[in-house]
Amino acid sequence: MTSMIEENLAAVRARALAAARKAGREGSDVTLVAVSKTHAADSVRAALVAGQREFGENRVQEAMSKFPALRAEFPDLRLHLIGPLQTNKAVDAVQTFDVIQSLDRPKLAASLAGAMNRLQRRPDCYIQVNTGEESQKAGIAPSLFESFLVECRERYALPVVGLMCIPPVDEHPDRHFSQLRDLARRHGLTRLSMGMSGDFETAIAFGATAVRVGTAIFGMRATAPAPDTRD
Ligand SMILES: *Cc1c(COP(=O)(O)O)cnc(C)c1O
Repeated sequence: MTSMIEENLAAVRARALAAARKAGREGSDVTLVAVSKTHAADSVRAALVAGQREFGENRVQEAMSKFPALRAEFPDLRLHLIGPLQTNKAVDAVQTFDVIQSLDRPKLAASLAGAMNRLQRRPDCYIQVNTGEESQKAGIAPSLFESFLVECRERYALPVVGLMCIPPVDEHPDRHFSQLRDLARRHGLTRLSMGMSGDFETAIAFGATAVRVGTAIFGMRATAPAPDTRD
């Protein structure tokens, strides 16, 4: 287990570095977020021992049961929430995560701002954009993005650092990656979370600063519990 994860991590890091170089970028411009959802704490520990420090989880409850003990061992790990967030879990999310990548609606912006003020803890936020305009998918619609960004910044003073997207599974991701990049540029946002196991090199070519890689590091997931639905 340990050696497989260590080898996978080395291979993914090498591929990310090569993709960055090819795009005229530095390897250090791209953060590898190891997506550990559904995988046991021992697998996360193996990745930590191999030097990995940034992790992604898509459910608040699962992260809360796995990560406090790991944090005690590895205080410099950073945890990203990459799945839909219900407003009633905003306090738990602000307490548990260092980065929240799924900010996508005004009601959630209000809850997160309240939770941050209460806890005096301000995780970096990414606005998730539904670039594919899929009705069932999380993310703010592109047509509503600009007013939502203004609301997050001015009304709620949220620390918005970048954008995140999950392209439709049945489409070529290029258009989605370029759309996210252009949207970020236009609004002075420097971070882009895009790219997963199947397309992270392409995402890096389009300017990704964070790639979210699960399967290529930890192996196949057993049937996953459904992510939290939004409210
Ligand atoms: C599960 C997940 C990933 C990782 O997907 P892999 O294909 O296993 O690399 C990335 N991003 C999000 C939002 C996810 O839910």
